[in-house]
Amino acid sequence: GNFVPPIRSNGGNNGNMTTRVAGKSDDAVDDSTRRCLEMLCGPDGELPEKLRNLEPRLIEHVSNEIMDRDPNVRWDDIAGLEHAKKCVTEMVIWPLLRPDIFKGCRSPGRGLLLFGPPGTGKTMIGKAIAGEAKATFFYISASSLTSKWRKSEGEHESSRRLKTQFLIEMEGFDSGNEQILLIGATNRPQELDEAARRRLTKRLYIPLPSSEARAWIVRNLLEKDGLFKLSKEEIDTICNLTEGYSGSDMKNLVKDASMGPLREALKQGIEITKLRKEDMRPVTLEDFEKALQEVRPSVSMSELGTYDEWNKQFGSLS
Ligand code: ADP
Repeated sequence: GNFVPPIRSNGGNNGNMTTRVAGKSDDAVDDSTRRCLEMLCGPDGELPEKLRNLEPRLIEHVSNEIMDRDPNVRWDDIAGLEHAKKCVTEMVIWPLLRPDIFKGCRSPGRGLLLFGPPGTGKTMIGKAIAGEAKATFFYISASSLTSKWRKSEGEHESSRRLKTQFLIEMEGFDSGNEQILLIGATNRPQELDEAARRRLTKRLYIPLPSSEARAWIVRNLLEKDGLFKLSKEEIDTICNLTEGYSGSDMKNLVKDASMGPLREALKQGIEITKLRKEDMRPVTLEDFEKALQEVRPSVSMSELGTYDEWNKQFGSLS
């Protein structure tokens, strides 16, 4: 809530200052990084105290990846995951509403890890939190950071630097009064080491969607486009046929199925340019049965076992 957008400097040349911050010669800081650092400078032309010891290229990346509150993701768009939503409400939303109660023993954790198979709503939760908490969401993917550093360093070295930097930053949160929550999302929790686990104190398993959640995704997506005409029995059949599908697999399935009526109308000889929405029938169970041949589940049973084990050992279970 207290996020202050960076103030553009008054055109002063901060080259010396930014390279001093970087602790490197002028040549070592490239133009885009320098521009970014200059944008973060206050009216006095100085970089805010807290940013001075940071790796300049890290600052550049973070600045480039500020994501605005995403009005497109609300709690209600996320199917299932009631447990995760409840934990997040306690950990993030309530402390923001009642900081007077959430202090001392009740002071909220600063690190949340969402783990589980890909395409299950982890990123959606991150975006929804930012919206609900009226916070600014910085989305930084590990690959976007490492790909930048990989140019000059090996993979091992760049990921080590990335991790070290994050851990240093998190030490900083602990001592300050800022309301900063680090949300990590991964589909490879087993690769986190002890130091990272220690800082991400709340670890929530975000599993594949239940049958009810899959039904909800199908209904919600089709209803949004006015294409929903399936009976309860037909929805049940789709749910039975999609055991093991992730939320993202379900979205792809609906997309494919909703092409059925269009393909059929075109087959009947109607030209795409003359096609009217009324010429197309609603999406049927048969469309889904065909789409199931195209869209296969992306997560294997053996991967699921790994998540269950990690959850039993390190996850926040209740
Ligand atoms: P990840 O867990 O890999 O971060 P995302 O949150 O990016 O997955 O989900 C990818 C897409 O899949 C979403 O944009 C959404 O369309 C769909 N999806 C995944 N999980 C859910 C869910 N629980 N409810 C509704 N849609 C979902």
